[in-house]
Amino acid sequence: MEFETIVGLEVHVELKTESKIFCSCPTRFGGAPNAHICEVCAGLPGALPRLNKKVLDYAVMTSLALHCEVTKKSRFDRKNYFYPDLPKGYQISQLYAPIGRNGYMDIDVRPEAGRSPGEASSDASKKRIRIHELHMEDDAGKLIHDEAENSTKIDFSRCGVPLLEIVTEPDFRSDEEVTAFLSELRTMLKFIGVSDCKMQEGSLRADVNLSVRPIGETALGTRTEMKNLSSFRAVSKAIGYEAKRQWEIVRCGGTIDRETRRWDEEKEMSFSMRKKEDAAEYKYFPEPDLPVLRITDEKIDELRSVLPELPQEKRKRYIEELHLPEYDAGILTANKEITVLFEKTAEICGDPKDASNWIMVDLMKLLNDTSTLPEDLKIREDSLGEIIVMFKEGKVSRAAGKELLRAAFAEGAVPKEYADAKDLWLITDRGSLEEAVGKILGNNGKARDEYLAGKTKNFQFLLGQAMRETKGKADPALLRSVLEEKLAQLSHDKTDKM
Ligand SMILES: [Zn+2]
Repeated sequence: MEFETIVGLEVHVELKTESKIFCSCPTRFGGAPNAHICEVCAGLPGALPRLNKKVLDYAVMTSLALHCEVTKKSRFDRKNYFYPDLPKGYQISQLYAPIGRNGYMDIDVRPEAGRSPGEASSDASKKRIRIHELHMEDDAGKLIHDEAENSTKIDFSRCGVPLLEIVTEPDFRSDEEVTAFLSELRTMLKFIGVSDCKMQEGSLRADVNLSVRPIGETALGTRTEMKNLSSFRAVSKAIGYEAKRQWEIVRCGGTIDRETRRWDEEKEMSFSMRKKEDAAEYKYFPEPDLPVLRITDEKIDELRSVLPELPQEKRKRYIEELHLPEYDAGILTANKEITVLFEKTAEICGDPKDASNWIMVDLMKLLNDTSTLPEDLKIREDSLGEIIVMFKEGKVSRAAGKELLRAAFAEGAVPKEYADAKDLWLITDRGSLEEAVGKILGNNGKARDEYLAGKTKNFQFLLGQAMRETKGKADPALLRSVLEEKLAQLSHDKTDKM
């Protein structure tokens, strides 16, 4: 019997604000443990939280980008539980009136072998993932287990770092769909500028809710939850493992326990952690220390107006208006840094296709060869555009253009300065090319005379000699024209004498 995997996600995103969600402590990553705490985020009795306005703005902008309805009368709720990294004894979250609801995001799903049936739509390469809700909450501290000392230390600095939790409907049917969604979401959040989404620093983490069922069955099976997966690889491996584990049990007539499981990245296995709590066990109640949030239509419009063009809109525009192939448009919009570079380059050189070609071929090769991430690019925004202009105006050769790009990529070199320093400019001065041509025609008398006698294929040889004479630096078109002219003149003189 065949089975299918059903996955829903809860994605936690750390917001890139200067200060925390309910106090003015900085949100900086790193630093000495417990360096950034105060009475509010450390949960001392009597301390009162105040909402950071930026967090609300970012939450509304993200809701809009995810096509959610923005809740105009939203509020915070207390989620009570006791855990060493939570000094207040509760988390301030949103249960009853989350800021965003009923949204969606479309992802690209290339039809592949082995994909579950029943998901083909009119546009087979797109799939819509529904967003159940989006809410704001504060992060907890961090437990650091010290094996050597056989102790656990607590760093409260992360307490109160603002989080958005994005909850999807159980719409995923494979790990590829999940990673496609996370990748699209990460790109989008970076474009909006609300988070840097560094998975390695935990600023984007995903909880995976997973169940399995025989193909054809419509009711959902019992799901388990795997918490805090912090890389695409971990998400993908965890889904594969957990789906197989559950199916083995179901196939043999067993039942799945509703539980939270821990994914062990080294062993590549999931382990039972605790039975899943129901909302009732958290004894949620409205947060009495914070007022109800009222969001006006004007405020929503204002935030909508500052939303930048999002990756999916850009992709569409690149294909329809700039006439770029779909494949190029996908790559050029997969990272904010590449998109910024592409748009600036196209603006400077005036030709999106040229800009795209240099990025798709030359820059991507440099990124791959050096295993560099786009976010670590050193090249200045305007460098590639300048290089393309220099090449198109015949001031540097294609090979020199590539060398300039390598230098701009590796050390942020300024193309014009680098071309000066390395003497990469082509010789475009007619006088010096005439001189070089005169010289080689004198030195290659035999080839010259044969040409004049009708052996026209000698032209290539003479052109090569002339190029060599200029050490490969002549503007090729100009050199050709000078040589043609000179030979025509000789031929004319010769006929005159006859
Ligand atoms: Zn604080």
